[in-house]
Amino acid sequence: MGTFNTVTHFKHFYLTPLFFFAICLLSSCASTPKKYETGYFGLFDTYTSIIIYAKNEGEFKRCADGIHDRLLELHRYFDIYDTYDGVNNLKTVNDMAGVAPVPVRGEIIGLLQFSKEMYYETNGAFNIALGPVLSIWRDYREAGVQHPEGAAPPPMEILLEASAHTDIEKLIIDAERMTVFLTEPGMSIDVGAVAKGYAAQLVVEQLTDGVSVIMDIGGNIVAVGKPPGKRGLWNVGVMNPDKETGADELLTTLKTESAAVVTSGDYQRYYEADGVRYGHIVDPYTLMPAARYRSVTVVHADSGLADALSTALFILPYDDGLKTAERFGAAVMWMTRGDEIYKNERFERYESEKK
Ligand code: ADP
Ligand code: MG
Repeated sequence: MGTFNTVTHFKHFYLTPLFFFAICLLSSCASTPKKYETGYFGLFDTYTSIIIYAKNEGEFKRCADGIHDRLLELHRYFDIYDTYDGVNNLKTVNDMAGVAPVPVRGEIIGLLQFSKEMYYETNGAFNIALGPVLSIWRDYREAGVQHPEGAAPPPMEILLEASAHTDIEKLIIDAERMTVFLTEPGMSIDVGAVAKGYAAQLVVEQLTDGVSVIMDIGGNIVAVGKPPGKRGLWNVGVMNPDKETGADELLTTLKTESAAVVTSGDYQRYYEADGVRYGHIVDPYTLMPAARYRSVTVVHADSGLADALSTALFILPYDDGLKTAERFGAAVMWMTRGDEIYKNERFERYESEKK
């Protein structure tokens, strides 16, 4: 009997076949495995922590190294800021906008196909072609964090001008030739809303059966297998955006078998100007940061989907968001700016009795 009830019709059918090597090969082990923990800075520009149940230190290290190395590889493919020797990554694709198609790895083709699909699934709320608009907000946010006294939102004229170059139909993905082309100069893609979750999902699919691992990549949590113990369920806490002000640290705790739990919030990356808070998730319809919610948490079997959905549901009005969530069989909790909490029934099923 599992507490896991989600539907997974959105599997990675769009992934071109890849050579998959197994990560975390375990030897058979009669005794109860021990809990080991490690963490890394830098992957996807955030902090990643990993818990692995393993027989001994050596087995743990091999497993952690395997996960780390694969995440680092995916980080480099999906990076939009830096280039690396011998790899065409998403920065290469952006740099070649309006110039020529770029040959890329299957992982990039898969991420972009999935992201384009999610554009249609969310009525355009989720748009990885929003790069030109997002980079303006990023510049103003960084300036506003460094010099709060001069903080301001960007002028609407420059946002509108940038939004003329955000047409996802001009992102051409050729899965046969394995190339990607942004056909218009000035376009750029930004996969900040989905890359961490998608990468985690690729890792999960490569893990050997029977491993018990939980990873947290900057708030994108993926639990795999079962922890030892009678119930064999993972406890996953959802952070309270108000915890800095002395409120409870967690909004709730979920108990789950293998699943991804992903939260999008306005409390970690934002700035303030004239008393208004500007978060990092931008509503493509208004070109302004989405301001309905403080946090949206999505639970789903597929971590890439949970990541993309958490960002989209952070933007969409509640009714549209709820319908979208139900279509995917996702469990969701919304916390509004007025501190009201909404949950769908699926989400409540994951909640533990309060301890
Ligand atoms: P985090 O990266 O903090 O875990 P999210 O997964 O919600 O949170 O992703 C936020 C990032 O997504 C932003 O920093 C930006 O790069 C990108 N983004 C913002 N708005 C949109 C949008 N409407 N569609 C797609 N990506 C977006
Ligand atoms: Mg996201």
